[in-house]
Amino acid sequence: MQIENEWIADLGYYEPGKPIEEVARELGFDCVDEICKLASNENSLGPSPLAVKAMKQVAGKMHFYPDGGSHYLREKLATQLRVHLEEVIVGNGSNELLEMIASVYLSKGMNIVMADRAFVVYRLAAAARQAVAKAVPMKAYRHDLDAMLDAIDEQTRIVFIANPNNPTGTVLEAEELDGFMRRVPDHVAVVFDEAYIELLAPEEQPDMIQYVRSRPHVYVLRTFSKAYGLAGLRVGYGIAGKREIELLNRVRQPFNVNAMGQAAALAALDDVAHVEKTRLMVKEGLAFLEQSFGEMKLEYVPSRANFMLVKVGEGRRVFEALQRKKVIVRPVAGYAMPEWIRVTVGTAHENKRLIHAMKELMQEGIILT
Ligand SMILES: *Cc1c(COP(=O)(O)O)cnc(C)c1O
Repeated sequence: MQIENEWIADLGYYEPGKPIEEVARELGFDCVDEICKLASNENSLGPSPLAVKAMKQVAGKMHFYPDGGSHYLREKLATQLRVHLEEVIVGNGSNELLEMIASVYLSKGMNIVMADRAFVVYRLAAAARQAVAKAVPMKAYRHDLDAMLDAIDEQTRIVFIANPNNPTGTVLEAEELDGFMRRVPDHVAVVFDEAYIELLAPEEQPDMIQYVRSRPHVYVLRTFSKAYGLAGLRVGYGIAGKREIELLNRVRQPFNVNAMGQAAALAALDDVAHVEKTRLMVKEGLAFLEQSFGEMKLEYVPSRANFMLVKVGEGRRVFEALQRKKVIVRPVAGYAMPEWIRVTVGTAHENKRLIHAMKELMQEGIILT
């Protein structure tokens, strides 16, 4: 008997990159250690050593429920970001915060505005509430903010802007964003998804938190999954007005962020050196990839995040061939880019292995310029 909501059948779902163990099992490799996972924009330096130490310290206390309000983590974030405690919320990854925002603003008949090649989760969160995603074509792989403003109508409730954007790695500058904020109508919530913002040098990071103060319904979302190297723990956070945080708390699970995640994130915030080391690794890695792709005559999208799009011919086929060479990347046909793959910037060693494997595939005629 079909008793589920009919529209659930039409929903898509997020296809994550496979864990290394599963790839190894499928391809019959016995050593997981040799596999380079450059598929999910994780931090190849690993977690901050301070975070690992903090996790060990709390491991024996896991019979207790976590602090449901993530008090100490929110307090530390508020101090570092110079906002009030009541303006910070912590989520089970920033993905959960995207879901909460969708729950607060969306229902049938409404729509969201996003870029066509922005993070797919926005589209999925809207669809799950029977809201339509208006995907506005990007211009030169960047958000077209004017076209996005034009796409806003009476039924629009949220505009999502990923900065830096995934999967393109492109960045919107402060002046462009300020211009957008001057024109965006009041009946629309604005979400700045800054999952990769710490990878920009501090002076290059646009200040979107100012808009949390100057206008209602503005959200700035960040995560410990990327620059902080804690993707496995699922901790993200949001900054918004006091009233907006209260709205999100109404749809939040009581113990949404686990105790180990809270402890690790708290320690990671003290490890500024680890983030700086990560930023340097990414900067050098991007330069190496640009140079290598240039030499190989492959088209790429210049990126400022820890990943890069590169045009290889048949993305899916190249993804599979690279996997057999123990390098996992990401096909991006889901973003209407079937000829491209997205590669995460890894350590110098991993990046070299990627390029070596790609050069072999060029000789084998599998990668095409
Ligand atoms: C990785 C990513 C996120 C968030 O991830 P969480 O692990 O849920 O914090 C959010 N937005 C974008 C654009 C991302 O690439």
